[in-house]
Amino acid sequence: MKKIKNYFKGGPRNFFFLMLILLLGIAVLTKLTDFTRQRKSIAYSTFLKAVEQDQIKSVHIIGQEILGVFKDGTFFETVVVDNPKNIELLKSHNVDFSVAPVSTQFNFWHILLLLAFIGAPIAIWLILRQTRGSSGGGHGNIFSMTKSKAKMFLPSQIKVNFNSVAGVQEAKEELTDVVDFLKNPEKYRRLGAKLTRGILLVGEPGNGKTLLAKAVAGEANCPFFSISGSDFIEVFVGVGAARVRDLFAQARKHAPCIIFIDEIDAVGRQRGSGLGGGHDEREQTLNQLLTEMDGFESANTAVVVMAATNRPDVLDKALLRPGRFDRTVHVPYPDLAARESILKVHARDVKIAADVDFHKIARATPGFTGADLMNLINEAAIIASKTDALFVTMKDIEEARDKIMLGKAIKSRVLSEDEKRKVAFHEAGHSLAILLQPETSEPLHKVTIVPRGGALGITHWLPEKERFLTNKEQMLATITTSVGGRAAEEITFNVLSTGAHDDFKKATELAREMVCKYGMSEKLGHVVYKTDPDAKYSEHTLRLIEEEIKNIVDVCYKKALELLKTNKDKLDLLANTLIEKETLYAGEIYQLLGISPREEHRLI
Ligand code: ADP
Ligand code: ZN
Repeated sequence: MKKIKNYFKGGPRNFFFLMLILLLGIAVLTKLTDFTRQRKSIAYSTFLKAVEQDQIKSVHIIGQEILGVFKDGTFFETVVVDNPKNIELLKSHNVDFSVAPVSTQFNFWHILLLLAFIGAPIAIWLILRQTRGSSGGGHGNIFSMTKSKAKMFLPSQIKVNFNSVAGVQEAKEELTDVVDFLKNPEKYRRLGAKLTRGILLVGEPGNGKTLLAKAVAGEANCPFFSISGSDFIEVFVGVGAARVRDLFAQARKHAPCIIFIDEIDAVGRQRGSGLGGGHDEREQTLNQLLTEMDGFESANTAVVVMAATNRPDVLDKALLRPGRFDRTVHVPYPDLAARESILKVHARDVKIAADVDFHKIARATPGFTGADLMNLINEAAIIASKTDALFVTMKDIEEARDKIMLGKAIKSRVLSEDEKRKVAFHEAGHSLAILLQPETSEPLHKVTIVPRGGALGITHWLPEKERFLTNKEQMLATITTSVGGRAAEEITFNVLSTGAHDDFKKATELAREMVCKYGMSEKLGHVVYKTDPDAKYSEHTLRLIEEEIKNIVDVCYKKALELLKTNKDKLDLLANTLIEKETLYAGEIYQLLGISPREEHRLI
């Protein structure tokens, strides 16, 4: 239903279009029905005369209307007086006649007209819409329904490169090998190196996923195909799959190149999810996408597929398998330093007054996305233009900021000072727990209080995918780190927030594995129990398992409390610095706290 509505919400221009088609339809139809008749209208008196002169072969009576044929073969129609004597007259002159009830005739025409009036314009409308949508690849004909609607950018049309993308240093670093591969696929082919062909860009809208993907194309000087996941899906089953096929066929022709699929979740949602039927189309499209990506490996084509989403959690697991989108690059909200550099990038095209302090503006715009910041500069320029000013001043920028802030406050992701403090202490708790436990297996990478997706702050201490915890000590240390966030909050604020829910879930899962899978519990011993929720144990065993899990988490929580209490000065220092800087990298933290990184935690 939503789809259908979309066809009509194109604004006044489209409405005009629709009306035009409707009128045309009516005109054509009226003409058409006249042609099919091709009979002349005659007067009742003429009709009577003709009967009397035996000129009529046969008639068909519908109520008061008579359709008939003369003996010379011409058709006629007339309207007669409702009189039983008509029948007598026809009989006496040997005219064949048949009679139809009025209602059948009415219904027949009624339905036909209705179908024609409603169906034809919609059909034409759909086809026109298709044609207008397909701007790339030069296929502008009416029957391009199954062609992909991707926009193609040639290298000469791509004006962005990594310099146009400010902040997101890590994302850029992670993508440098992709650039290299696209620039020089032979180099990799020669050695048989298998490079990632699918990259998932994860981040909230406006943080530069599209920009980043295009910048990769800009860096590699290769063509860029851009399409949105929702563009694949149409009302007709099979169209989406055909479009995917067409897109990949085109891309292969232009290899090395990049395919960028925005909003991949529109096609890539878990199969079999959603209410009711009607998902065949999406599933077919998704299957086709998977097939095409699998085809890369054998074909050895230098096509890289980048897809963007802010909901990686809803994606079908099949999409994330090796050989498909097996690499995830996060495109987070910009932190303080990133905001400053994004502002500077966009200020390049604007005349800026000397008083403008980008650092100050960055400070005053927490929670702004890259798009918001671009918007900020633009709004400020508009405000300045209105007063015929020569330069954009700090005052203009402030005014623009307030305007955008107001808009954002409604959707709000901006943390209040209070929340910011809580998140900072929570994350500092995680980080310190890592640093203070020599037995942790994973190095601290960075800690930030910039919101990303669902979680408010993120301490990057676990690799996103696989954890290799090899012994009991490491596992306990990991659990202690997990609950360290909550412990820090308890020590500092003495109230518990809901922010730690996920941490405790992780801690509990790991404790359950220790008890059930690895036989690391004394009470239960070296027995493997099923960890899945449907597994059935005796009530006694079940209670023992739950007790042991709780016991492990409790012990770890106490340890975390102790660790952080004895190092409260470090906790305060780290948290307060976080509030100030928003993101801290491992190196900065070591320096700040005056600890030296452990041997195994050194990166080089
Ligand atoms: P997304 O695809 O994540 O929704 P976009 O790439 O469409 O975000 O970003 C919209 C615009 O915001 C970009 O065209 C760019 O002008 C600006 N922008 C976003 N992030 C950045 C950034 N890191 N550096 C510079 N400009 C940015
Ligand atoms: Zn946490």
